[in-house]
Amino acid sequence: MAQADSKKDLHADQDPNKINLGIGAYRDNDGKPWILPVVKKVKQNLLTDPTLNHEYLAIDGLRTFTDASAKMILGADSRAIKEKRFLGVQQISGTGAVLKKGATVYISDPTWGNHFQIFGDAGFTVKTYKYWNPATLYYCLKTADSGSIFVLHACAHNPTGVDPTQEQWKQIAAIIKEKNHFPFFDCAYQGFASGSLDKDAWAVRYFVDAGFEIFVAQSYSKNFGIYSERCGCLTVVTSTEQQAINVRSQLCRLNRASISNPPAYGARIVNAEDNLRTMANRIIKMREETVRHLTDLKTPGNWSHITSQIGMFSYTGLTVAQVKVIKEKFHVYMTDNGRISMAGLNENNVRRFAEAVDYVVRN
Ligand code: PLP
Repeated sequence: MAQADSKKDLHADQDPNKINLGIGAYRDNDGKPWILPVVKKVKQNLLTDPTLNHEYLAIDGLRTFTDASAKMILGADSRAIKEKRFLGVQQISGTGAVLKKGATVYISDPTWGNHFQIFGDAGFTVKTYKYWNPATLYYCLKTADSGSIFVLHACAHNPTGVDPTQEQWKQIAAIIKEKNHFPFFDCAYQGFASGSLDKDAWAVRYFVDAGFEIFVAQSYSKNFGIYSERCGCLTVVTSTEQQAINVRSQLCRLNRASISNPPAYGARIVNAEDNLRTMANRIIKMREETVRHLTDLKTPGNWSHITSQIGMFSYTGLTVAQVKVIKEKFHVYMTDNGRISMAGLNENNVRRFAEAVDYVVRN
């Protein structure tokens, strides 16, 4: 309710200098949505390509796109790809509800809010695992019923902006193996954490190399900036080639029933190439600028988490009361838990944002 009110307030707020840090979408340095140059170029090519039409795609989507998606997350030289132990099925972006109903799914606490609805509505029992503290995360993994599904953010965890270290991922994988859990990766920000697609795929590739069967829900909303095109892929790694064939056929049945046929436009765009570094670098710069201004203002507290966190979001640590004041007094909007979208900051508003934080922290 509070969240809905906050959105209403944001839209009603006429202040020309209001700052919206609640939105999970990239903004350029002028605070405007950005169409990636590569997307612009591909759109032009699509307009003039005489071979394209508006026929239905296959039920599992555009095969060149789903194969490219598998390569992007698993690595072009992945053994699973060489051994044909993988498949990709196009999805309506985000996390597709495509697993066995009735199973228990564990999602992180905190997580992207929609995980609750997606898995709940799909008939899963949804439970949470503690995320912040590795010790309690391991404890949750160990005490969950064997064979549970664990939803893991592949990189740039939303909302915390804190990812496990490689050592911690190894530990997580070891417990998942021991408990026979099933790893389901949600990968909505590949390229956003480090600017490198390969680095951001480290955890997924580690699991595949360690012999796991996995599901990876890949979204292209953020890293290609094509939010409304609903472009995503469910990439699955199996143990054998035959299993990959069987799983593809099952997922086609599910796709047929839930979406009938996947949309083509976004998949054709992603088919082209990537253009992520600009976005990742601007976000990293805004993290540095925020801390620089807070240091300059001698704002009480330690703000180093802003630069150590990664991805699009940052937990400021501001309280609900401070979030309320910063909204009412400074027209700065963020979620009630103090999470900000770094993409909402730019060279023109970062100082004002720091001053607003400085005020609420001191008062
Ligand atoms: N998963 C996570 C963790 C997200 O943060 C998001 C978007 O905010 C998504 C999935 C899915 O986004 P979309 O459905 O636009 O691809």
